[in-house]
Amino acid sequence: MKVEWKEFKGQVLHDFPYPLKNRKCPHYALVSVTASGSCVHRCPMCYARVYPWSIDDRIVIYKNLPQKIDEELSRAKIMPPLYLSQVSDVLQPVREVREITCEVIKVILKHNVSFHIVTKNAEGALELIQKIPSLIKYPFWYLAMTIESTPEKQKITSPFASKIESRLRALKILHKQGIMVSARTDPCILGLLGKNEILWLIEKIRQTGVKHIVSSTGFFNRTSMARLLLAIKESRFASLASRVAHIYEFCEDRINSYRVPTSQEWAGKRFWAPVELRKKFHRWLRREAESRSMTYAICLELPRSYDSPELPHCEGCPNNYVHIKRNGKFYPVDECFGDCMRSCPDRNKPPCGKPILLTQYPYKSTTLHLSKTSKEINIQYLLF
Ligand code: SF4
Ligand code: SF4
Repeated sequence: MKVEWKEFKGQVLHDFPYPLKNRKCPHYALVSVTASGSCVHRCPMCYARVYPWSIDDRIVIYKNLPQKIDEELSRAKIMPPLYLSQVSDVLQPVREVREITCEVIKVILKHNVSFHIVTKNAEGALELIQKIPSLIKYPFWYLAMTIESTPEKQKITSPFASKIESRLRALKILHKQGIMVSARTDPCILGLLGKNEILWLIEKIRQTGVKHIVSSTGFFNRTSMARLLLAIKESRFASLASRVAHIYEFCEDRINSYRVPTSQEWAGKRFWAPVELRKKFHRWLRREAESRSMTYAICLELPRSYDSPELPHCEGCPNNYVHIKRNGKFYPVDECFGDCMRSCPDRNKPPCGKPILLTQYPYKSTTLHLSKTSKEINIQYLLF
């Protein structure tokens, strides 16, 4: 696919756009290395490919990203964990994307703040460690591998990403090297995967050394649902397409009547599995994960009470701290992971010195830059 370079305008590090009401996601500093949907993996149900502003016919990379992130981290006084990248796979097999991802990570390491990567690319994950070996000992990051399907059905869900077996193998290698890893099984498409296939998946994940799974049954808009159904119909599992459409309450004959995405309503009409079915599914899968000594969290579609108890944050990994700056240097805040609604170490006197983060969703960029007096920071909570 053609690669294009572009200047990124505006603030790079930003929170999820969701307001406090019904918000589940922690505060993150999201980093978009490419335009939304610029990803050669081209998964049919990908939400990043169906925003009104998505670019999925070429790879648009933001060339000034490392410099911009360096400047923003230099100015910031508090930094939630950085998240690379929710709009494309930053380890996809495109040389230019991987190079800029490496540059961004080097900037992150220089500033000593937390980050994580979500990927479906096994070889990209292993190559990253070869290119930046200091990541093996870096304490504030983890890698989440998405493993959403069995090897047979991956041809439907992520045909151009790494093979499922390769992703499992990469997780195992990284875990053996002492790197924190987790797994995502989302979207776990109801009607496409059977119970035994899902159990196979989580057992294989357990064997890699992963201790935490994030899952969801996903939601789709009319384009991503139509693409998914077409991929199912073109596979040897074609007979499952009508079952998936039925569960997600999508009627192909009515496709033109469903609301299209707009800049105000980016998804347009959304197609979900019914809530009672989701509850039943997640209760079951959480039990199965916990019986294998793993914890479990549900991405977005059910409240925190459905997740395993006492998680530091929904992504589970206990090394992704919020950092605050003292004397020009970032320090991690003990027990603070930016999931302010779930696990603030002291809600009456938040050790970050920014009680506004308890209620400001999404946070404003100025919140990251406001200076704190030394009285506001509870230095007992600073690690190292
Ligand atoms: S790997 Fe992720 S970003 Fe890339 S196409 Fe697949 S779902 Fe979309
Ligand atoms: S100390 Fe509490 S309010 Fe401050 S960032 Fe951490 S969890 Fe959020």
